[in-house]
Amino acid sequence: MSNDERTFIAIKPDGVARGLVGEIISRFQRKGYTLVGLKQVVPSKDLAESHYEEHKERPFFSGLVSFITSGPVVAMVWEGKGSIAMARAMIGATNPLASAPGTIRGDFGVDVGRNIIHGSDSADSAKREIALWFKSCELLTEVVRSSNLYVPSL
Ligand code: GDP
Ligand code: MG
Repeated sequence: MSNDERTFIAIKPDGVARGLVGEIISRFQRKGYTLVGLKQVVPSKDLAESHYEEHKERPFFSGLVSFITSGPVVAMVWEGKGSIAMARAMIGATNPLASAPGTIRGDFGVDVGRNIIHGSDSADSAKREIALWFKSCELLTEVVRSSNLYVPSL
């Protein structure tokens, strides 16, 4: 299992508006993952539709796109062993009412349409979503992370 597995995580507008950004970042840091990309953006309709492309025929699609474009989203790339599946476990089930307490959705939400956070569901999705939301120059490289310029404990 590789140490440099990367996943795309987005705190949705409800999570940002409710002040959960610090709590969520803290959970991934405490687990042992490394933040290699971070930005706050109000996504365009194009970006939102591409991101949720797999759901375009679903009845909730237009509501989902309007919601995700309604305010700032905190987009992140997290790196570490097993990060894709572990982030999904830490996030919980799609419907917060079915998410176990201790997960992000289980602790902070009750509505499926306001479920706080997105996480990539597979290696292919992670690759696609990272490329959709980030330019490669916006992500830390191994060289930068291992240099003296990046010493988180200082
Ligand atoms: P996820 O991977 O757990 O985020 O879930 P999906 O990929 O299945 O769905 C994407 C997002 O669409 C979810 O996070 C929800 O915000 C939303 N969604 C999924 N199912 C429903 C639904 O039945 N009703 C509504 N309103 N939104 C839904
Ligand atoms: Mg999904």
